[in-house]
Amino acid sequence: MFLSVRELELRKISFDKVFESGQVDFTGEDLEQSSPLHAKGTAELLPETGGQVRVRGSYTVEVVAQCDRCLVRVRYPLKADFDLYYRPVSDLPEEEEAEIDEGEAEIGFYEDGLELEDILREQVLLALPMQRVCSEACKGICPGCGKNRNETACDCKPEVDDRWGALRDLEL
Ligand SMILES: [Zn+2]
Ligand SMILES: [Zn+2]
Repeated sequence: MFLSVRELELRKISFDKVFESGQVDFTGEDLEQSSPLHAKGTAELLPETGGQVRVRGSYTVEVVAQCDRCLVRVRYPLKADFDLYYRPVSDLPEEEEAEIDEGEAEIGFYEDGLELEDILREQVLLALPMQRVCSEACKGICPGCGKNRNETACDCKPEVDDRWGALRDLEL
């Protein structure tokens, strides 16, 4: 759904949309959308701000991602609010990029408008934890036999650095 600035100049846009899996592009993010993404909210052009657009609303979705340690599929039910501001790309200082401070960096820019799917994609990625694990106590996969150590205890000895063993053999 494209939130066009020309339309925003005339009126506030309300949205209440359901995006099926695949409509919001999560390619390359190692995750799968496992429920429809429901988003609702409004987009408006703020008067006397030189073209600032405010998009706010909320969404719910469930995504599935692999546990970083044991590779089991983990479900992440997400539900969050967002309140975002965008400025016309013409405001972007061309040679002063280095001077954009932290607070400034959080503001986005638009050209002719904003793609709601892109906004939602970014919000979902932000909502996911940096470290995706099935549980804090996840024991991960055994580097020796490849078994999931949460499910089966294996007989592998803890990893030993073999170079020292080789050295000992030389000395004998
Ligand atoms: Zn795990
Ligand atoms: Zn093992």
